Amino acid sequence: MSSLLNVYNRAAPIFVRGEGSWLHDDGGNAWLDCVGGIATTGLGHCNPVLVAALKEQADRLWHISNMFAIPGQEALAERLTVATFADLAFFANSGSEAIECALKMARRYHAARGNPERDVVIGFKGSFHGRTYGAINASGNAAYLDGFGPALPGYLQLTTDDWAAIADAIAAPTTAAVIIEPVQGEGGARAMSEALLRQLRQACDAVGALLIHDEVQSGMGRTGRLFAHQWHDDVAPDIMAVAKALGGGFPVGACLATRRAASGMVPGTHGSTFGGNPLAMAVGIAAFDEIAAPAMLAHVRAVSTHLRDGLARLQARYPETILDVRGKGLLIGVKLAVENRAFMAAARERHLLVAAGGENCVRLLPPLTISHDEADIALERLDETCNAMLGMMAA
Ligand SMILES: *Cc1c(COP(=O)(O)O)cnc(C)c1O
Repeated sequence: MSSLLNVYNRAAPIFVRGEGSWLHDDGGNAWLDCVGGIATTGLGHCNPVLVAALKEQADRLWHISNMFAIPGQEALAERLTVATFADLAFFANSGSEAIECALKMARRYHAARGNPERDVVIGFKGSFHGRTYGAINASGNAAYLDGFGPALPGYLQLTTDDWAAIADAIAAPTTAAVIIEPVQGEGGARAMSEALLRQLRQACDAVGALLIHDEVQSGMGRTGRLFAHQWHDDVAPDIMAVAKALGGGFPVGACLATRRAASGMVPGTHGSTFGGNPLAMAVGIAAFDEIAAPAMLAHVRAVSTHLRDGLARLQARYPETILDVRGKGLLIGVKLAVENRAFMAAARERHLLVAAGGENCVRLLPPLTISHDEADIALERLDETCNAMLGMMAA
């Protein structure tokens, strides 16, 4: 009997070592990792640059408290704000905490301007914003809310394809903010259209509502730009949550905002014990400098095109298995006609790790550093997996 809280369905292999795109189990087998800690180990496992940054900081100073200045926070905030719409950053330990900061900031903005009645946050069906109480209410996913008491007031969710309803909701006098993932991750790698992102920006501006982007999964180079919304002009949010690949596997999140959107957040309104501690900042700075390098982002675009071309060929070869290939960059969703859990198990038999996603997808979230040769290995193993699924269907 395990002594662990039973909240995960864990796959069988026990991994003891990682290197680049590969994981090694306790039996000496190598696995090609297209889960990447769910889009978190963006620079691969045990990236030597990150390992060096962590070790160097570990010998100097681990933790002090946010009651003292932490120079690493200034350095990482400077990088993140220079590279984005944002003026300010708050550091947290996870994506959910970055979302909590974003939700609090949006409501506080209106309250501080004398409009405390503007407290409704509009989210979208199929979204995922994390597992804290605020985050599950922002996404509204019934499976995550069930049994946890009353839903919080001030949240509503709409479908992304009903613009009339969205426009009405944004125009309501109680609206504080809209929260959206520019590319839904858990929902099955669903990229929002440029038109929707721009309409949201304009509708929010028209009534003074704030726009929050959740780029916890889609950010930090995942789509081939530093942030997914940067593929488009004039869609940038007022507030953005970032985490996952920000620390390359070291727990760190950030809430970025314009000075205006953050204007309600004054000393005493928010905080965190661990958020932005020196260890997290040392790794975050090293990861940022690697990911934001133009050559890295160009590599993501090239290797994702290569992978997507291969997946399109697989879809043509196995139309009874693969219904659609979607997402953006290396946030890839493969929508299946066969049960995604069965597909994942069949892939594992070929030592290929893929993640599940909504709408019966599997997601491929390899490290940004995956090589073209490794992408070819992933495609070969997916081809074999599709073949095995055919056999299962025939049986
Ligand atoms: C993973 C994720 C979160 C939650 O992050 P945690 O670090 O698990 O709290 C929030 N939003 C999105 C889009 C995510 O993918």
